[in-house]
Amino acid sequence: MVTSGEHVTVAVAGPLRRTFVYRQPASIERLEAGQRVLVPFGAARKIGYYLGGGVPGKGVRVKEIVKVIDDATLFSPELFKLCLWMADYYFANPADCLAAALPPILKTKRKPTFRWGDAPLELDKLPSWVAPLIKEGHKIPTTVLQRIKGEGRGLFDRMRKSGLIAAVWAGTGAGPKGAPIGFRAVSSDAWKIPAWRKGVSLQPFDGVKTRTQLKAVGWSEYRIGKAVKSGLLEPVYSEGLSEVMEFVRPREHVAGLQLNGEQRSALDKLSEFLDKGFSTTLLHGITGSGKTLVYCHLCREVLGRGKTVLALTPEIALAGTTLAYFRAFFGDQVTVLHSAMTERERLQSWYGIRQGKYRIVIGPRSAVFAPQPDLGLIIVDEEHDGSYKQDDPAPRFHGRDCAIMRARINGVPALLGSASPSVETYHHVRSEKYHLATLATRPTGARLPIVHLVDMRSERVRGDLPFMSYTLKKEVQGRLTRGEQVILYLNRRGHSPMLKCAGCGFLSRCPQCQVNLTYHKTGPKLSCHYCGHTEPSYSACPSCGGSEFLYLGSGTQKVEEAIPCLFEGATPVRFDSDAVTGRAKAYRILTDFSSRKYNLLLGTQMVTKGLDLPGVTLVGVLAADMSLDLPDFRSSEKTFAQLLQVAGRSGRAETPGEVFIQTYYADNDVINDAAAQHYETFFEREIESRRRFRYPPFVRLINCLLSGSDEKRLESATLSFRNQLADLVRRHRLKADLLGPAPCPLYFLRGQYRRHLLVKTGQIVKFTTMLSEWEHEQSRFGIPSAIKIVIDVDPDDMM
Ligand code: ADP
Ligand code: ZN
Repeated sequence: MVTSGEHVTVAVAGPLRRTFVYRQPASIERLEAGQRVLVPFGAARKIGYYLGGGVPGKGVRVKEIVKVIDDATLFSPELFKLCLWMADYYFANPADCLAAALPPILKTKRKPTFRWGDAPLELDKLPSWVAPLIKEGHKIPTTVLQRIKGEGRGLFDRMRKSGLIAAVWAGTGAGPKGAPIGFRAVSSDAWKIPAWRKGVSLQPFDGVKTRTQLKAVGWSEYRIGKAVKSGLLEPVYSEGLSEVMEFVRPREHVAGLQLNGEQRSALDKLSEFLDKGFSTTLLHGITGSGKTLVYCHLCREVLGRGKTVLALTPEIALAGTTLAYFRAFFGDQVTVLHSAMTERERLQSWYGIRQGKYRIVIGPRSAVFAPQPDLGLIIVDEEHDGSYKQDDPAPRFHGRDCAIMRARINGVPALLGSASPSVETYHHVRSEKYHLATLATRPTGARLPIVHLVDMRSERVRGDLPFMSYTLKKEVQGRLTRGEQVILYLNRRGHSPMLKCAGCGFLSRCPQCQVNLTYHKTGPKLSCHYCGHTEPSYSACPSCGGSEFLYLGSGTQKVEEAIPCLFEGATPVRFDSDAVTGRAKAYRILTDFSSRKYNLLLGTQMVTKGLDLPGVTLVGVLAADMSLDLPDFRSSEKTFAQLLQVAGRSGRAETPGEVFIQTYYADNDVINDAAAQHYETFFEREIESRRRFRYPPFVRLINCLLSGSDEKRLESATLSFRNQLADLVRRHRLKADLLGPAPCPLYFLRGQYRRHLLVKTGQIVKFTTMLSEWEHEQSRFGIPSAIKIVIDVDPDDMM
């Protein structure tokens, strides 16, 4: 607690990892950690977060906080601590970390509206004109607010504190209605002659249309407003989060399943940790071993103790499957928190969580900040998954590691689940830092699938369809004929990664990145898979005018196109990020596939993750080698996990499953371990290689990435950064290897040249502290402003 008139430290979002000192005006009595304040910043005013007391630098003119935004802080002490830990560990701006924990609306909106609350001050303390205006639960008109504020003597503040005036943030639904979800047309003659129409003809319509739908047919915000005022449109409001949950129906039968012996012992072991403060346990269960059922039973025990649960899943599509399971157990006590929700839904969910209305929260990495009271357990499902790491923008945090830190701060157990644990996690199990619970069988009685390697060096089909071997073709056809279902996995979307002119050899490249543009049949268009640049495709070569093209390489669209001529009786559906737009679509495709509307699911790595589709008896991996070829120390680990996971989609019911992996590296150890589904063998070899070449978990990595449009200046800035860094490392006597600088594997991206410097160190905290001090002395490490620098701690993607 700070008394007024003192100096305080405030975090303000921006490219600099600095904080700022302000004066706290006497009118502000007290600030709480994380409370949002409005501060003057340059010529503008910005939202800042109060961090604590502060000492102004010598000779600095200290400005005064303009006002306090929130009545009370939005952060529990534990969440505040987590955000500040993140800022330190991931070398991020604390304001970015705190903002990451809030629903998007609260990051930008500074002004709530006000309504009359239900805790009246003693009326004799109010000016007499106020009482007749109070209408409990109604919005307070601006004119009235201004009059109250004009009254002075802190009247407004007193009324707010007493609860007579309550703040309502846009879309919370805490007010009488919240924002409308759509509009209904009211029939009226006025439709024919509205003054606001100005040359556009807007028609009455049936049913309810959302703002977006209206705008698509010529409405504007102004016209909607006018039409509502004149009674032509009627706003439609919704209650609660029905739309979010609507697309995921509970998987009813699972709540009745009996745990088998192995699941029961795992549950017993896990529940032992529930009352014992912080611990981390890995639930290592083979694919299809029923980890989700164990989570649900464990959650039931946590809820029984009056506590709440946070469960992280890798991606939104998967949150859907997990959600369906949890909803069967816990119904409306479950909610989700993710970026595909509308701002309003997120805010509602967030408030509901804060108020304790929802006891279980499911979501991807950003949900690690769910504002739950009484947290009792954190689960990280598929903990090995790369999508837990946020690469861009800052904070570049790892959702799993932050979850473990949150569990530590809250003093509760963390449970990590996976069939192919990350090398780091399993290393911690081996060194007894983490506990281990194991599930080694499939409870449905199904056995692990039999995996075959198809050596493409001898099996490749010449001609038009180089992605399909005779063996795989024959096997797929067999399943389809028998009425079984098949998954084909190819980690490349689009039609062809290269579109080449057959006449002159012209190849289209991204003007921003200098990489080949991928040809997409939809459009048709050419698109850069690195920066998102797209352009229409052409029917005449831009260089020679020729009209014959070579479609080189294969993506999911090309395979989809070939399916009718490859297989008889195939009903394919494509499942990749081009086909799956919008949160409900993924779920719908999977539901339709489950109900056998399709018999062949073709997709990118979205098909490898967590899907439980009992009708699938064969999985075909079209190109196993792609990820092995990447210049990344994790490429073995990623390849192993991907193959193991996708293989695990096969044979989850009684009919035994088979998997065919097409590869040019049939002798490769990683591919063979994945085929044998031997995690331990893979781990032993991988950990040795990590030890020998000094990679995590034996050291930590920091990737310093510099980029700029002028290659020469970038080169010299990078060298000078490296030299100064090497100097500091020497002076601080730190143990750290500096590798590079070298051009990034993607040396040119979005019009910027890119260089990186990789740091390996066992003293990460000392190292980042040293970096912080340097940055404090010399803003942006003295790098010229035309050069951008990103510091990525524990990087996952080093392209
Ligand atoms: P994992 O996440 O470990 O790969 P899932 O949780 O998806 O596995 O479970 C695989 C399948 O086994 C699901 O269809 C699930 O409903 C079923 N299952 C899990 N536990 C049991 C059990 N004890 N009895 C019967 N079926 C079970
Ligand atoms: Zn590009």
